[in-house]
Amino acid sequence: FEKTETDHHVVDNVYHLKKHREKFSHKGTYGHALLVAGSYGKMGAAILAARALLRAGVGLLTIHTPARGYAILQQAVPEAMVSIDPLEDYASALPSSDGYSVIGIGPGLGQADVTVKMMHKILEAYRKPMVIDADALNILAAHRELLSLVPPGSILTPHPKEFERLAGKTANEFERLEKQKALARQLRSVVVVKGAYSSIASPEGVVYFNTTGNPGMATGGTGDVLTGILTGLLAQSYPSLDAAILGVYLHGLAGDLAAHKLGVDSLIASDLIRYLPAAFRKI
Ligand code: AMP
Ligand code: MG
Repeated sequence: FEKTETDHHVVDNVYHLKKHREKFSHKGTYGHALLVAGSYGKMGAAILAARALLRAGVGLLTIHTPARGYAILQQAVPEAMVSIDPLEDYASALPSSDGYSVIGIGPGLGQADVTVKMMHKILEAYRKPMVIDADALNILAAHRELLSLVPPGSILTPHPKEFERLAGKTANEFERLEKQKALARQLRSVVVVKGAYSSIASPEGVVYFNTTGNPGMATGGTGDVLTGILTGLLAQSYPSLDAAILGVYLHGLAGDLAAHKLGVDSLIASDLIRYLPAAFRKI
């Protein structure tokens, strides 16, 4: 990393963070991720996160999703197993979170009352790091008593609007950065505020600014792809901060490689997944 100020770094090289796959490894070596995602009308977010999770190298993936999403997910993501919720349209009850190495929660989840209750139960039962995004962040913002249950070492990935709901309005980006560091400290977790030059705050209050990515990525679903990548890396036992720095970098690099071929104007979230393998090979 290039050093800027005492506690601010610019991420322009991540090769040293990348783990290598062992000859005598098997799928158990690379973790079993549980993705809790999707609701009526938002199954696409679950598909994008799931596909990205697999391309990030996870060993096994189970997606917990509303009953209506069952056939959609089995067709769109044949590599994944599906845990089917008793409700048709919203996730409401997870059978058990035992046996999973990591949970990624939020893409397309919705904020139905039953989903809020489910999230409460998950947070009470599960103490390993999680990736928390999208509606799972909105649920935390609306039910602040849940914040204290966030497992230490988690990764939260708000875009600026979601961050504002979590941490309140700020007058400028400097103030926002201070609030971002404070939230990371408070939750003992990594907080990523997404955008051009996404910032990654460690629980110790060190901030890393990402350098990859382009405005072609300002389009629906790209954040869900990031959730998948980060969940896939955590499943493989990357330390949370390494997973966040590496994952955000790879996500942006996939976007840059895609834009190089397709142009920024036509980029869609699926393109990031398509170019993720090339991004892994390039670092
Ligand atoms: P979301 O708003 O949750 O869909 O997330 C959007 C994703 O696209 C984040 O990872 C952002 O960092 C990325 N993104 C959005 N706009 C830009 C931009 N102008 N330059 C680089 N990355 C961007
Ligand atoms: Mg999002």
